Amino acid sequence: MISPSPFWSPVVHGLVPYVPGEQPKLANLVKLNTNENPYPPSPRVAVAIQAAQQQGLQLYPDPESTLLRQAVARHHGLAADQVFAGNGSDEVLAHAFFAFFQQRGAPLLLPDVTYSFYQVYCGLYGIPMAVMPLGDGLRIDVEALAPAGREVAGVVVANPNAPTGIGLPLAQIERLLQLHPQRVVLVDEAYVDFGGESAIGLVARYPNLLVVHTLSKSRALAGLRVGLAFGQRPLIEALERVKNSFNSYPLDRLAQAGAVAAYEDQAYFDEKRAAVMHSREGLSLQLEDLGFEVLPSQANFVFARHPAHDAAELTARLRERGVLVRHFRQPRIAQYLRISVGTPQQCDALLQALGEILR
Ligand code: PMP
Repeated sequence: MISPSPFWSPVVHGLVPYVPGEQPKLANLVKLNTNENPYPPSPRVAVAIQAAQQQGLQLYPDPESTLLRQAVARHHGLAADQVFAGNGSDEVLAHAFFAFFQQRGAPLLLPDVTYSFYQVYCGLYGIPMAVMPLGDGLRIDVEALAPAGREVAGVVVANPNAPTGIGLPLAQIERLLQLHPQRVVLVDEAYVDFGGESAIGLVARYPNLLVVHTLSKSRALAGLRVGLAFGQRPLIEALERVKNSFNSYPLDRLAQAGAVAAYEDQAYFDEKRAAVMHSREGLSLQLEDLGFEVLPSQANFVFARHPAHDAAELTARLRERGVLVRHFRQPRIAQYLRISVGTPQQCDALLQALGEILR
């Protein structure tokens, strides 16, 4: 890290950036640290990208990602103008924070243990936060998170939550929407395809609901950078205004073509997410056999702690054996490991390494 420079604006001095998990330069590591899909994307994606590549990379892409928004809308039973597309869901989230939570004269409500980028966006945009503690078992308690009568800028939840993997039932999401009808409730469903309940079906009834999805997890396209938001027209219009005040072309031609192809291969999608969920159940049981406490996960990762072994040390010793997992030095979760669900071979390699370390 270099020291602060007088050229920096005062805002930059105050930024606390997000720190992504390691993307190692070494090959042959068992990479279970950033919740990517362990399988490659549908083969149709490469075919579509190849074709797009021959159709005029000298020209700008469609600024509205029309074909993608139409394909996704068809998939979810929405209208295309209820869909917004951005450069990864991180960018979609950033635009949503800017569009809905700034200058509200009240704090944004979010759980204390959740996706840490939410706090980073609040820092970037100067949005005050009310960070509400999770309940027992690191579960979100909706009434405690967003108490009735409290003035708020909005509410943000990840469902299933990250890094716990625990999902909220849809009735609880609906309760949040009813508790704060005048403010946007943002539901980040990055991991929903691995067993969570999606709130997309509530979009028609709740004008304050914004659901955010990513193609980085269940569609195995983290390298393509595609994120989406779903909501009623006024919310999508707000996101478009922000986008068109920032970058008119967030999705390049290859990303748009590849993303459409991913939505056209339902059989592949179903097969691979079933494989990940199956591996997750086996992995959870085997971690329990090694003495770990494993939270019930509806995501493509598990969150686990060992009562007799320090999590930071376990992470370091796994790395020595070529296995990467994620550890957060944060209050309440500092003794947990977040382990992405790998292929059966990757899970076996993790379990074998853990077996050696714990012995
Ligand atoms: N939301 C959550 C809860 C996540 O864990 C992630 C992945 N780090 C994202 C959003 C961002 O995903 P992407 O930008 O790859 O779409």
